[in-house]
Amino acid sequence: MCFCGNTQTFEQCCQPFITGVATPKTAEQLMRSRFSAYCTHAGEYILKTYASKTRTEHTVEDILLFAKQVDFVHLDVIQTEQDEQYQYVEFKAAYIEGAVLSALHERSRFIQENGAWLYLDGELYPTDSKKVSRNDPCPCLSGKKFKKCHGK
Ligand SMILES: [Zn+2]
Ligand SMILES: [Zn+2]
Repeated sequence: MCFCGNTQTFEQCCQPFITGVATPKTAEQLMRSRFSAYCTHAGEYILKTYASKTRTEHTVEDILLFAKQVDFVHLDVIQTEQDEQYQYVEFKAAYIEGAVLSALHERSRFIQENGAWLYLDGELYPTDSKKVSRNDPCPCLSGKKFKKCHGK
C-alpha cells in the first residue's frame, strides 16, 4: 500500500512523481504525491510543487522541520471538484505528534502551470486532537497496538 492510501505500492503510485519520472495528471494525484513526500521527507518535491505565486513563502528547511516533527499516518481524500481555472481537493490527513493524534482537514486549490498541477493554497477546517493511549489500536490502521507501532 502506498503512503497516500492507494492499494498500489509506493514505487508504482507516488514515487514516480516524486522522482520526476512521471507527472501527475490530476490535482488529486499531485496532492497524494505531496502527502507521500511529507511521509518520506522529500522536501525538494514539496517545495517545487507549490505554485510559483506561493512557493517563495516556503523553504525546504521549514518543510522538513514540520515533516520530521510529525508522523503522517493516514490520508482520506473526501472530494474533488473543478472549475475552469482550478481543481480542488478536500482531504483529511491524520498525523501523530508525540502521543497526540491530530488531523489536517483542508480544501486545497490547485492550478496548472506549464502543463503541471501545482498546489496554490487551501482553506482549513477546524479539527480535534486526541491523546492516543499506548494500548489503543494504532491510528495508521496497521492493526497493531499504538505502543507497538507509531507510539514506539
Ligand atoms: Zn500514492
Ligand atoms: Zn502505526
